[in-house]
Amino acid sequence: MSTVLTQGIINVTSDCRACDHCTSICPTGAISGLLGQRHKIDHNLCINCGQCLINCPFGRIEDASMVDLVKKALADPSKFVIVQEAPAVRVALGEEFGLEPGTNVKNKMYAALRRLGFKKVYDTEFTADLTIMEEGTELIGRVYGALGVKGYENKGPLPQFTSCCPAWIKYAEDKYPKIIPYLSTAKSPQQMFGAISKTYLPTKLNVNPANIYSVSVMPCTAKKAECNRPEFISSGYQDVDAVITTRELAALIKEKGIDFNKLPAEEADKFIGASTGAATIFGVSGGVMEAALRTAYEILSGSTLDEVDLKAVRGLQSVREASVEIPVKALGKALPVNVAIVTGTKHVDKLIEDVLAGRSKYHFIEVMNCPGGCINGGGQPIRREMH
Ligand code: SF4
Ligand code: SF4
Ligand code: SF4
Repeated sequence: MSTVLTQGIINVTSDCRACDHCTSICPTGAISGLLGQRHKIDHNLCINCGQCLINCPFGRIEDASMVDLVKKALADPSKFVIVQEAPAVRVALGEEFGLEPGTNVKNKMYAALRRLGFKKVYDTEFTADLTIMEEGTELIGRVYGALGVKGYENKGPLPQFTSCCPAWIKYAEDKYPKIIPYLSTAKSPQQMFGAISKTYLPTKLNVNPANIYSVSVMPCTAKKAECNRPEFISSGYQDVDAVITTRELAALIKEKGIDFNKLPAEEADKFIGASTGAATIFGVSGGVMEAALRTAYEILSGSTLDEVDLKAVRGLQSVREASVEIPVKALGKALPVNVAIVTGTKHVDKLIEDVLAGRSKYHFIEVMNCPGGCINGGGQPIRREMH
């Protein structure tokens, strides 16, 4: 019971008002149409980010839905339906229920998810930590490899690009296939959770993995394509069966007649212990970089990064950079690590061209497609005044 949808997630409806606004939003030039003509999307170029959808002033762009699949699984007594939710969902969901943008409604959201019928309710934060540790450790391997440290040969070239944004990954694959070896091999937090949900979790819950139905709630439309990529079947079962957006979760809660604002505060189910605070900043541009650098710093130096100012990696400019001196115990010297953070794939071209030409000064580059990161993803509530 799953779709095989990896393309065609985003579509223009037949009653497009032909205002042409979306063409200026799209980072890849996937939308075509003249002023006064119905616009259309080239799905070979589209990276499924949904930025056109949340910015169409007339609401004439929609995303493919897996909500019916989720409802079917919830109604099937043979299925053990579990859900993960990403950090950017909890600070946006409340907008759909009249609360101020940014209000953290995680405890009411957990309560709502249980009332919708999910048997276990988890945060993606735990696996965001795993992604961060993987990316940090992989970066160390690549840096050691570049320095010629024995045992670290063939760890991959520098700079290392982050791999957690599926819109960015599709952009890289489509436009710059030569950059693929530079992408981190770490799965995104959604997919790490999915893999665990079909391998470790069934043994812990004593449930047949064939009966686990793994749902994720994401701020992102591109995650719908990511979950259907053919490589994400770690255990023989699809890692994540269905993805719904923040908007779709709100619609499900309303459809079920749940009075969201009156729900009691509940906690998420515990996974394997607590997550660090690092994963919470995952949804904000610069967050993955900051967290992975802290991991690399701690492993290499044996001390924490509290004293070093990493604030340069946060912020709203499209391309930001920072340099961190890491004292490497094993080498007995400090290494400067140069990082860049890109928000908006359309701003990454120059950096990629520099890398491919061998003139990049960076060791680690974070790329997130949406402005400011997942917090402004294509699956978030829409603030639209014109209809
Ligand atoms: S922004 Fe919306 S209404 Fe305007 S051309 Fe694009 S899809 Fe059509
Ligand atoms: S989803 Fe993103 S890439 Fe696709 S048409 Fe819309 S803005 Fe362009
Ligand atoms: S920045 Fe976040 S919300 Fe936007 S496409 Fe990437 S993963 Fe999805």
